[in-house]
Amino acid sequence: MSLLVVGSVALDTLETPAGRADDAVGGAATYFAYAASFFTPIRMVAAVGEDFPEEVLEDLESRGVDVSGVEKRPGSTLRWSGRYHEELNVRDTLHLDLGVFADFDPSLPSSFADSEYAFLANIDPVLQSRVLDQLNGPKLVGCDTMNHWIQESRPLVDALLKRVDMLVVNDEEAELLTGDRNVVKAAGKILDSGPERVLIKRGEYGVIEFSGNTVFAVPAYPLEEVRDPTGAGDCFAAGLMGELARSGDLSPQGLRRAIVYGSVMGSFVVEDFGPRRLQELTAEMIDERYQLFVSLTDIPR
Ligand code: AMP
Repeated sequence: MSLLVVGSVALDTLETPAGRADDAVGGAATYFAYAASFFTPIRMVAAVGEDFPEEVLEDLESRGVDVSGVEKRPGSTLRWSGRYHEELNVRDTLHLDLGVFADFDPSLPSSFADSEYAFLANIDPVLQSRVLDQLNGPKLVGCDTMNHWIQESRPLVDALLKRVDMLVVNDEEAELLTGDRNVVKAAGKILDSGPERVLIKRGEYGVIEFSGNTVFAVPAYPLEEVRDPTGAGDCFAAGLMGELARSGDLSPQGLRRAIVYGSVMGSFVVEDFGPRRLQELTAEMIDERYQLFVSLTDIPR
């Protein structure tokens, strides 16, 4: 089934305790598209500048990503640089230049309007809403956001939350949205504000999903080394939405399976800088790690 993503496409400079990468291909939509393309065909909506390498779009296309919604505009690609602390859950943004995203007004190819699944990756909530306006009644809409938008565009974030089925945020963002540090209380408030489901990502502690009457938790895969945590959340969302779109199974069991696939994709991307690890993955490696997750959480009754 068709899965649409809107979000940033970027060139990142990354510093982590394991090393550094300059001008790495990044952006939430890029990570999402690479990871979700293992599950289902992807439709991508974004903007890039004249400096963005054409080969990357070609590579995405070869993986079943329809990039006809990626607008090439005069100006430069979004640039972000970040530095991670020894404690990898903490990072500082050193520099952010929105470039062509500053005045991007997405106009979707008409062939994208019937997308049944959509993920509004982290980008200005104005753009997320405009994309949603152009879809003909999608089956499931997932959404991410970040501190910057919660602080600077709160009314727009609130309005968007009323229109999405599933919010995927990290614990810090959940706290900022609700004022509650406790994830259970924060999730309750988020559910009251609109979405039917909320998934709270807790970095190396895994992910926890809340809906009106269920709670489900999956640990993070224990890795010997995390080289670069960038994009982990986007790849989590990609595995989750990708598996839901592939299976069409929105039952509680289908959702649990999708959350584990999300955790699998998040665990792969952090093993190397940028999307490198995703570029060398195979479907077999993904399924093998899924099975490792199953045994990781095989709790006797
Ligand atoms: P994540 O690690 O999942 O938070 O995603 C990191 C990606 O988000 C990086 O590749 C950045 O290029 C991108 N990014 C950082 N800040 C912003 C922003 N304000 N708007 C959109 N994308 C951003």
